[in-house]
Amino acid sequence: MDFRLNHEQQLLREQVSEFCKRVIEPKWIEIDDKGEIDREVIERMADIGLFGMTISSEYGGQDGSFLEAAIAAEQLAYHGPALSIAVMYLLQCSWPYMLQRYGFEEAKQELLPKVAAGDAAVGIASTEAHGGSDVASIRVNAVKKDGRTWTISGEKSMVSLPTIIEKMPWGGGWFLIARTGDPALKHRSITDFLFLMKRGGVLTPGVRYKPWTEFARRGLDTSVVNFENAEVDDVYRIGEVNNGFKIAMEGFNLARTMIGAVCVGCAEWLMERAVEWVRTRKVFGKPISAYQGVSFKLAEFASSLEAAKLLSYKAAWTADRYYRDGAGSLGEVAKLGAMAKLRCASLAVDIGEEVMKIYGGASYYKETPIFRAWLAAFSYVVGAEGAENILRLIVAREVIGREFVE
Ligand SMILES: Cc1cc2nc3c(=O)[nH]c(=O)nc-3n(C[C@H](O)[C@H](O)[C@H](O)COP(=O)(O)OP(=O)(O)OC[C@H]3O[C@@H](n4cnc5c(N)ncnc54)[C@H](O)[C@@H]3O)c2cc1C
Repeated sequence: MDFRLNHEQQLLREQVSEFCKRVIEPKWIEIDDKGEIDREVIERMADIGLFGMTISSEYGGQDGSFLEAAIAAEQLAYHGPALSIAVMYLLQCSWPYMLQRYGFEEAKQELLPKVAAGDAAVGIASTEAHGGSDVASIRVNAVKKDGRTWTISGEKSMVSLPTIIEKMPWGGGWFLIARTGDPALKHRSITDFLFLMKRGGVLTPGVRYKPWTEFARRGLDTSVVNFENAEVDDVYRIGEVNNGFKIAMEGFNLARTMIGAVCVGCAEWLMERAVEWVRTRKVFGKPISAYQGVSFKLAEFASSLEAAKLLSYKAAWTADRYYRDGAGSLGEVAKLGAMAKLRCASLAVDIGEEVMKIYGGASYYKETPIFRAWLAAFSYVVGAEGAENILRLIVAREVIGREFVE
């Protein structure tokens, strides 16, 4: 077993790191303050192929593996630890891939090149206010109006990206999970659509959104989105009617795998800030690194970070093994993706909290940026792309057996 990145992976890591030093590092705090990702940053990310990482070259993408996508995700998060840029990137690695895998050719040809070019963005619209974790109980419904058109009605909550999509030159939308049959059938009456809120520069009638005010990870607005008889053509259906639950879960597996890598990048940035600080901050005549109460904690975190990084890479490698080589199982992809998000996000939050303490009172002021990374990672502990207990449930099903845990 060789733990080193291969030549191409190392090259990719260096290229993305160089790019981030020039384009993202000088901007990330400003983006977090103003709550908006600059168009120029999006264009430059598209120029080096970041938005098409997992999209096939047939549709203008890079044909990249999930491991390569994870390597880039880690760099984007490390150099922009308020995470809005890294999260926008990870969404484009995950949900357009589901369209590529299960969508109709016409929809793929229309949208995927726009995503790769940075002219369109795709997010996920799953959560509803009555309980985001219980995806099988969603109420937003899709009704077939005629041979080709579906009408969508209802409300999704905490949906990321609407403002970004509205500002994109072409547009974009969400991987939308909708009820298409008897609610009593739960996960067996759910269908997925690519719902375009904006298409070819034109807004789709029947959609309204109201942004929430996030306290971190700003620049990626998260909104309540209301659909009132909003129409979507059957060509944007993803997968078979009433088979959408399984496909949506596959999308979450991939997004969680990418989140693992993003949280590793965020945690690495936090660790480096801590190491820098404890070496230079002198109290009682010595650098605080000389006190074991401080250094032992960092030693523990460094050990956990090493383990989290390996787990994150293994999750991405497991996804590649399944999707590219046709080996392994979807259960393994789900388990590793859930483990990666569970471990890496909570570690980034734990390190962030400790670094806040190590900085002392100085951390409590906006002039010290530690809080931005800490609270950004916190989004993944409170629920974004799956609450922690849901991740534990997925892991428990795979490890103990579904029949023993339900
Ligand atoms: C910053 C941010 C961005 C987001 N972006 C999006 C987005 O783009 N699209 C989208 O669709 N959603 C998005 N979400 C919503 C996210 O997916 C939900 O928060 C998540 O699915 C959990 O749902 P909930 O918040 O309704 O919590 P609930 O489902 O109400 O859960 C509340 C608590 O109960 C626990 N719980 C629930 N069920 C069980 C169970 N069976 N066993 C044990 N414990 C349980 C959970 O672990 C949690 O602690 C975002 C959330 C955040 C914070």
